[in-house]
Amino acid sequence: MRAMLLEHLGPVDARTEPLRWGELPDPVAGPGELVLRVSACGVCHTELDEIEGRTPPPRLPVVPGHQVVGRVTAAGPGVTGIRPGERVGVAWIFSACGTCAYCRSGRENLCAAFRATGRDAHGGYAEQMRVAADFVFPIPAALTDAEAAPLLCAGAIGHRSLELARLEEGAPLGLMGFGASAHLVLQMARRRYPASRISVWARSPGERDFARDLGAAWAGDIAERPPEPPLAIIDTTPAWTPVVAALSHLAPGGRLVINAIRKEAGDQTVLLTMDYATHLWQEKALQSVANVTRRDVAAVLALAVEVPLRPTVECFPLEAANHALRELRQRRIRGAKVLVMG
Ligand SMILES: [Zn+2]
Ligand SMILES: [Zn+2]
Repeated sequence: MRAMLLEHLGPVDARTEPLRWGELPDPVAGPGELVLRVSACGVCHTELDEIEGRTPPPRLPVVPGHQVVGRVTAAGPGVTGIRPGERVGVAWIFSACGTCAYCRSGRENLCAAFRATGRDAHGGYAEQMRVAADFVFPIPAALTDAEAAPLLCAGAIGHRSLELARLEEGAPLGLMGFGASAHLVLQMARRRYPASRISVWARSPGERDFARDLGAAWAGDIAERPPEPPLAIIDTTPAWTPVVAALSHLAPGGRLVINAIRKEAGDQTVLLTMDYATHLWQEKALQSVANVTRRDVAAVLALAVEVPLRPTVECFPLEAANHALRELRQRRIRGAKVLVMG
């Protein structure tokens, strides 16, 4: 099969070709496994973290991609309930041990043996992939392949972030950054907390217009103060300046949820400007989001039908993955980028 392969770690910039268009043997379904013919795979900022070494794959080459939609072409021994031809999705959670205290209490995202799709195992930047049948999700018929793909990470982790924000109906919410995940969180939050006003901070005027189009009550630059201080802010940026700004914008008793697997080091020294009285006092809380559970993924797919939640997508052919990653690096984003096969 053909695939985009990550063979060497390094920076993603205007001139680099971080992935190589290559060939791998066709995957074969072992016991409990499926093989999928991939039809779409979302492009996530986490791919930049993998390629640039902030969360490096343990083995190279690896096929990146963890927002995978495909059709089952083969089922290995012992697979029940899923037949060839069915359309399923694969998310960031490739596997977890299933027996530790975290797994048994519904927090498999924190399992020490957590394996991530496209980092610890081959992912969806390919024509085919192999996955455990216990870790796929049926895709609702209302969604196209390209619409479903970004829900599997941007949507699922956005949903988890919104849960961890513990907002109450009517309380103001803030979104720091407005990429693939935030544009879905905004739609979910409007459905779940219709009386809550949502403020969005984004660097580019285009992103701010997009946020207003989707129903943000206010959109501004990172340093600007919204009309009312949010009781919860979800940060989806790769940087530190927005974290410090968000803490100062929070209302007393507010909570900042950082939805990022890694932060980039570029502006980390801004943390030295943090002041206890301005940024932390008044019982402000700070929480990160790690990975996703299968429950998060299933919940966002159900919500997609109910809201209805429709990601804004920009499609690229599989072999243009490097181009899509460079655009992500340059923050040329409106909604979510998706690779489509064939
Ligand atoms: Zn992701
Ligand atoms: Zn476990």
